[in-house]
Amino acid sequence: MNKQGNIDLSFDREHVWHPYTSMKDPLPVYPVESAKGVRLKLESGQELIDGMSSWWCAIHGYNHPVLNKAVENQLTKMSHVMFGGITHQPAVDLAKILVDITPPSLQKVFYCDSGSVAVEVAMKMALQYRFATKNYKKNKFLSIRSGYHGDTFNAMSVCDPVTGMHEIFTGVLPINYFVEAPSCEFYEDWNEESFCPMQKMIMDHHEELTAIIVEPVVQGAGGMRFYHPEYLNRLRYICDEYDLLLIFDEIATGFGRTGKLFACEYTNIEPDIMAIGKAITGGYMSFAATLTNLKVCEGISNGTPGNFMHGPTFMGNPLACSVGIASVSLLLESNWELNVERIENILKQQLYRAAGFENVNNVRVLGAIGVIEMHKPVNMADLQKEFVKNGIWVRPFGKLIYLMPPFIISDKDLIFLCENLISIVKTIKF
Ligand SMILES: *Cc1c(COP(=O)(O)O)cnc(C)c1O
Repeated sequence: MNKQGNIDLSFDREHVWHPYTSMKDPLPVYPVESAKGVRLKLESGQELIDGMSSWWCAIHGYNHPVLNKAVENQLTKMSHVMFGGITHQPAVDLAKILVDITPPSLQKVFYCDSGSVAVEVAMKMALQYRFATKNYKKNKFLSIRSGYHGDTFNAMSVCDPVTGMHEIFTGVLPINYFVEAPSCEFYEDWNEESFCPMQKMIMDHHEELTAIIVEPVVQGAGGMRFYHPEYLNRLRYICDEYDLLLIFDEIATGFGRTGKLFACEYTNIEPDIMAIGKAITGGYMSFAATLTNLKVCEGISNGTPGNFMHGPTFMGNPLACSVGIASVSLLLESNWELNVERIENILKQQLYRAAGFENVNNVRVLGAIGVIEMHKPVNMADLQKEFVKNGIWVRPFGKLIYLMPPFIISDKDLIFLCENLISIVKTIKF
């Protein structure tokens, strides 16, 4: 029980596991009492300006009246009902929106309960598509280094084997192929040679490969890299040539974050399968979806067993669908393109000033994402303490200190966030 309304931190420390932490020597956690707009309110009463959108999700900020209302309304009808043999308005309405806003060929929606599951489902589709025609040989995946696709086993098997946080599992993961991350960066002129490693790998291994899975344009947790969209155009072309499916993981990039509604809009191609999640519910519920085209869906459905063999308990959860509809509609009705551009401009103005710091290796900004890459890994716990002291919520990992604020952040709050970040970055000693 709470002690006089205080969050019992010693109980938390003793019994509650946090992401990627030890239970023996846990990193400090900050007790948040509530959150509103772009502010997280600590139990102490101190307010922090949020630079993380709770890992890409809370694009409209916290405690948003429209999203609150959507959950409340749905709650009075039903919070959950099984999806086997049943459908409901929120599931159908959300699917209409998703089919409408994603690339036109993606027509079939599979609801999942988290991003990792959406990736598992995407990979399972790519396998079942082959198995349906008794093609058991094409059963491996190819990905690019510095990628991150989630924490479950198949998702782990396509994360960067080193920076993807799952190195220790290498021995028990399905063996898949990797090529170096695209060397041609987003703002550079396209360099044809940067596609050669991918081309060679495909030519050597296409007979074993069912699909290629990548985060389009922006690689998230595996390295926060921005690469040239032309890479993806080439990828589509060669996938068609060698009978490979193309899977885009837009779980982090989706819903406006990169300056396009989906990062694939920087290209002129469409994937066969696309996983979306994170911002889909504006950060309200754990929810995701995997969309696919007729080719994959018919391939699976025309084969044996015909049914797609997946169906999580909380599939199509009505609360999540309802708040998903509200969140996506809110985004589409807003002037989100101009807004993300506004954030991009401020991030550029502010963060590029750190580019000259001795301890900084690289600064990059795309859409509402700003990254400061240090020369060496930082001490997350120490750094976070400094950030909190200065009224900002930023969670670095490895060499990367990055911002992806809620889209509703004001100029003033964003400048405060950047200025405090930079003044602390400047003091980091290696
Ligand atoms: C976060 C993330 C995932 C995993 O999503 P979860 O909801 O954490 O399971 C997969 N792919 C990408 C690109 C992500 O950023």
